[in-house]
Amino acid sequence: MSATSSFDSSLASHRDTTQPLRCLVTGGAGFIGSHLCKGLLDQGHDVTVIDNLSTGRRINLPEHHPCLRFIQSDLAAALPALGKGELFDEIYHLAAAVGVKLIIADPINSIETNITQTSAILRFAHERGGIPILIASSSEVYGKSTKVPFSEEDDVHYGSTTVTRWSYAMSKAVDEYLALAYHQQHALPVAIARFFNTVGPGQVGDYGMVLPRFVQQALNSEPIEVYGDGSQSRCFCDVRDIAAALPVLLRTKSAHGRVFNLGGQTPITIQELAQRIIYNVGSSSIIKHIPYTQAYAPGFEDLAIRRPDTSRVRSEINFSQRIGLDQTIADVAAWITAGKGPGVAQWNVKWDVKMEAQR
Ligand code: NAD
Repeated sequence: MSATSSFDSSLASHRDTTQPLRCLVTGGAGFIGSHLCKGLLDQGHDVTVIDNLSTGRRINLPEHHPCLRFIQSDLAAALPALGKGELFDEIYHLAAAVGVKLIIADPINSIETNITQTSAILRFAHERGGIPILIASSSEVYGKSTKVPFSEEDDVHYGSTTVTRWSYAMSKAVDEYLALAYHQQHALPVAIARFFNTVGPGQVGDYGMVLPRFVQQALNSEPIEVYGDGSQSRCFCDVRDIAAALPVLLRTKSAHGRVFNLGGQTPITIQELAQRIIYNVGSSSIIKHIPYTQAYAPGFEDLAIRRPDTSRVRSEINFSQRIGLDQTIADVAAWITAGKGPGVAQWNVKWDVKMEAQR
């Protein structure tokens, strides 16, 4: 079966990209960032990546590419070192401390990373003449709101500050406030994408990401560990669809100063996800339920349903999910099997995915 993703012409792009653009991608060695870099390089653009490799991997990017420059550094430390004459046409800010497990394990670093690095890159974009910038936000921003589906203008609802889990949501919300303030006060062209459960080849399960963890357990014929009773539901979307949408969103002027949900439309419970992975992988794994108190800290609160209203991004850039969950599971399994999983040079793994240039 062929998965079609879309660094191609079918998403409406509202900016002329016939000339190579100079793109700065923060967190470009990470899961989503590396797919984005691949698409930008395939389109013929020049890409500079700044990544401290805290959760990303250098191997996610090509070792040598004439149009790629890799700077291993904390973002805020690297920015002042970039010469004043160094020009960028667009910035994609994906560097962040990511994943509930990581946030709970190291809250100071996570909060500081998510707020100070975003503040630094927004100031940089403003001071360098108003470079268009895309900010990666998260569905976590909605907190524990029970509304279904989540729409961009909905109120948000967080738990107590004594529950560390909400610090990630709040740090991402502060990022959004800052970005919108730069747009309001300095007319900075900024677009904000709230990702909902992005999945696909290249994602590792180490930081609590559910799909690669389940696929790995299924491939090992180990019990699949479902936290809670498994009735919580999510909408997954393949990273190749998400990454392809980011340049389109940023290059669409009417998207500036606005927030967009970006994710899948089809809900699935975590129990069903585990069953589907067992079936698709042909595994003999059983499902084991782990209480939240054992998986996380006591008092951990999870959302029963997390589903995006994607009507805004669909009408703005004609976004649609092209790669189905079964395809994603198959590609993640193939990625883990072919390259022994985390740390594999995903660059060298051939996926049956079309990444056409826009020009
Ligand atoms: P990731 O951990 O693979 O990518 C984050 C990258 O940022 C890593 O390469 C890491 O090394 C780098 N990084 C972290 N701190 C840095 C710093 N101070 N300086 C430079 N680099 C730094 O995670 P991802 O899933 O690719 O997430 C990318 C973005 O998308 C993040 O902003 C995240 O909050 C957001 N997001 C992702 C999801 C998802 O489902 N994957 C959901 C919601 C939001």
